[in-house]
Amino acid sequence: MKMREKDWSEIKYFSPKENWGEPLLMDRETVFLLDTLRGLFKSPFVVHCGYERSGHMPDSQHYTGKAADFHVVGLPFRNAVDLMVDVIGSPPGGTGVCGKIGLGIYPHWTSPGFHLDTRGEFARWGAIVRNGRQVYVSWDEAYEAIG
Ligand SMILES: [Zn+2]
Repeated sequence: MKMREKDWSEIKYFSPKENWGEPLLMDRETVFLLDTLRGLFKSPFVVHCGYERSGHMPDSQHYTGKAADFHVVGLPFRNAVDLMVDVIGSPPGGTGVCGKIGLGIYPHWTSPGFHLDTRGEFARWGAIVRNGRQVYVSWDEAYEAIG
């Protein structure tokens, strides 16, 4: 189900004016999950992108509005990652809702951050830059790359 105008009015920490792409094409479960996480973190999340029509992997959850990329303000990235793992679980764990979330870490971004999606199954990964281009690696390898 997509976000409706009234759903956005129930979101505590985000506005539809942020970088969601198309706020009414964002998945409801995804945005409410992000809002819950944001409340637990007690630190602002800056949304880089949400719903998009191009620019991601062919099967990207961004194309269904079930994904957002973001970074957490005011926390060193390692702390943000550790807190995220505490909240929603790390590989190979994940039960309940945590077992239905895709989560990637991107230490090389200008503001290091996360991709989070509600794909309906468990996925964890990371990305690093190798020979000048982004490559997908294991969560642990990307974690090692956090500065
Ligand atoms: Zn993403």
